[in-house]
Amino acid sequence: REFNEAGLHPVMLENVEKCRYYKPTPIQAYCIPSVLTGHDVVAIAQTGSGKTAAFLIPILSKLMGKARQLAAPRPNPAKYNVNTDRVRAEPLVLVVCPTRELACQIFDEARRLCYRTMLRPCVIYGGAPSRNQREQLEMGCDILIATPGRLMDFMQDVNRLSLARLKFTVIDEADELLSSGWEEAMEKIFQGSGIFVDNNADADHTYLMFSATFSKATRRLARDYMDEDFVRIK
Ligand code: AMP
Repeated sequence: REFNEAGLHPVMLENVEKCRYYKPTPIQAYCIPSVLTGHDVVAIAQTGSGKTAAFLIPILSKLMGKARQLAAPRPNPAKYNVNTDRVRAEPLVLVVCPTRELACQIFDEARRLCYRTMLRPCVIYGGAPSRNQREQLEMGCDILIATPGRLMDFMQDVNRLSLARLKFTVIDEADELLSSGWEEAMEKIFQGSGIFVDNNADADHTYLMFSATFSKATRRLARDYMDEDFVRIK
């Protein structure tokens, strides 16, 4: 299958071409149609398989149809005072991954794929001052890419960040996160995801998990939170 046969939004097809992705990798060939049809996905995938684009392309394509209604309001940078004009970030997509390096790589790819979509990606991670990250969130955040510790910090304050409007939650390198003490945090994130239901938006929430192995902890998280008919890609 080719990208232009997948039923992607035309802007997304242009962005895929700009990234010079001419042919879907195997994980993309399986993952893109599954997400477009609204399925939860658990995929066994290694770095280098094209897994980042495998989730970003269909998610952004689905959101594109409604981007104008859904995208976060953008404060005017010239008039905006970070100290007094507090804006709550309510992203539509959350991507959680274990390291700063991975978060920044995903952010780079998200920036390229978000070109001309009206959707704005932001990245937050530990080991750096949070002030600049907070300011970026307040400038409008539709796609949030985060490491778990810093995400927990930001989640402490619901006036700054709310996950209630999330439509997609992606856990990348799930086995790594679950084996390094973030199991409870992942549950908290899954529980707080997409609980806000507005009148004209569908209540549907999509969960995706990418993992190098299908460990016991990964299986349990999938069983407890995902749709029964989740697609398993190996
Ligand atoms: P990932 O597995 O997401 O870390 O991606 C590995 C690398 O493959 C990244 O540098 C991507 O930009 C690149 N990539 C992803 N999808 C494709 C594709 N369909 N064709 C060529 N390169 C790709």
